[in-house]
Amino acid sequence: MRVNVDLGACQGHGICHMSAPDVFDLAEDDGHSIVRTDPVPPELEADARLGVDSCPERAISAS
Ligand code: SF4
Repeated sequence: MRVNVDLGACQGHGICHMSAPDVFDLAEDDGHSIVRTDPVPPELEADARLGVDSCPERAISAS
C-alpha cells in the first residue's frame, strides 16, 4: 500500500497524524502532513486507511 498527501489540499489539521502516528508525521514549520513510511508496511495498513478516511480535506490518496 502507498499513500500520498496532496500538499495543495492539506490544511494541516493533523487528524491523520492522530489517527496513524506511525504513518503520518506533521511538518514542524507549517503542520502539513508528511508520509513517514512509503510503502506502508502491512501491519500499518489499517492505521493508514484510518488516516486517509479521517482527513476532512480528502488530501490523502491510497493505492
Ligand atoms: S488530516 Fe488531511 S488536511 Fe489534516 S494534516 Fe492530515 S492530510 Fe493534511
